[in-house]
Amino acid sequence: MLDPDSVRQNDLRGGTSPWNQKRRQPVRPQVAESFRCEVLVVGAGITGSLAAEHLACLGHEVCVIDRQRPGLGSTTASTAMLLWEIDRSLTDLTGMYGFERAASIYRHSEAAVSGLIELVTTRGLACGMRPQHSLYLAAGESGPRELLAEHELRIRAGLPGDFLDHQGLLREFEIHREAALVSPGSADADPLLLSQALLAEAVRQKARLFDAEAVGYDSSGDAVIVVLDNNQVIEAKHVVLATGYVMPDILTSDLHKVVSSWAIATPPQEQGALWRDSALIWEASDSYSYLRTTVENRIIMGGEDDDNIVESEARDRLMPAKAKTILGKLKALWPKGEAMAEYIWSGAFGTTSDGLPLIGAVPGHPRIHAAYGYGGNGITYSYLASRMIAASIAGNNQPWFDDFAIDRDAPKTD
Ligand SMILES: Cc1cc2nc3c(=O)[nH]c(=O)nc-3n(C[C@H](O)[C@H](O)[C@H](O)COP(=O)(O)OP(=O)(O)OC[C@H]3O[C@@H](n4cnc5c(N)ncnc54)[C@H](O)[C@@H]3O)c2cc1C
Repeated sequence: MLDPDSVRQNDLRGGTSPWNQKRRQPVRPQVAESFRCEVLVVGAGITGSLAAEHLACLGHEVCVIDRQRPGLGSTTASTAMLLWEIDRSLTDLTGMYGFERAASIYRHSEAAVSGLIELVTTRGLACGMRPQHSLYLAAGESGPRELLAEHELRIRAGLPGDFLDHQGLLREFEIHREAALVSPGSADADPLLLSQALLAEAVRQKARLFDAEAVGYDSSGDAVIVVLDNNQVIEAKHVVLATGYVMPDILTSDLHKVVSSWAIATPPQEQGALWRDSALIWEASDSYSYLRTTVENRIIMGGEDDDNIVESEARDRLMPAKAKTILGKLKALWPKGEAMAEYIWSGAFGTTSDGLPLIGAVPGHPRIHAAYGYGGNGITYSYLASRMIAASIAGNNQPWFDDFAIDRDAPKTD
């Protein structure tokens, strides 16, 4: 696990991602004296920004603190494929939790992406968001038969999508793989712009933003006392923990682990050199490669995850070698594209054993709400967390919230 006292944004990511760094940041005063507020959000990446925006819009008195610059943690390393398909297939999740529960989890994930698209559209947030289809390619042990079974299970769960066999995939997308599932309802975006636009919206809705570090939490009374690094305290009725892959000591879970991941972005591609509809592409295997495009016609490709590398220097040293491997895979999958890296970056990447996030009250601390969107659907889950936590604060907990609880009964990580 990452040490919350020593791990900073620079340790969470290396290299340079292609996201737009030009947006003006809101002013963040320091906390000069202790105060009270209704909801304190700790962390102002995409997760904290989504929570702050939603809670402020609902009329809560919201304060947000971040010890570094908002959005420049894991959020700026994200490839921001906003998929509703989960890292674990519906088949796998059914094996773990049974069909009804797995189907319900998938349907909430699908609703989260459509909610996020609607939010960005109705608020007019400038973040390059584009609704997209996704293409889930046969890979490794998941061949046509396994994909067809997954498709049939998804249809039974009321989820959209079609099965493409080898010929269909070649005809529709010019991609050589044994089979694929093509599904509507996903999206992509610039994660940094999205995060910062949401934070600006929260501030417009009267949320207050501070430059401060939370170093201790005491929830033994009727409110939560959050101790800051300068010894001031903020007393809040509710606290939302949105500190990304760096979790405070009050939260322990053996469901998650942090690994390393790498990504590249090519220069803008020639007209006609991208696949049909710029669909989001990923593979039906445990350690998968994934591809998307950007509004500038770049191809982003990522993957090559390594469970054994957590330390940031070791991770960043591997950037040239990992980029070479990723570019080789890009060439094989999409020979029409120019397989060159204009941007190369790396990041810590949190995963859970069942591919689901950690959302809900921290065990033993009912007023401290965790919002940890682990896995390849991190941002989808951040949206889900913002809605679930707002409902919990309003006293509207739903039975399905337990599927994402920190102390759920799930397979443990190695
Ligand atoms: C290479 C890579 C590719 C990814 N691809 C995708 C993808 O395609 N789709 C997807 O949905 N997700 C993806 N993810 C995951 C997604 O990016 C993350 O889930 C998401 O960015 C996490 O955002 P966050 O706001 O929770 O964390 P962060 O962005 O890290 O923000 C946390 C903030 O909390 C602050 N903080 C921490 N501790 C304290 C403290 N004690 N006091 C005050 N402030 C504190 C930090 O300074 C930081 O600003 C990817 C991640 C990586 C690394």
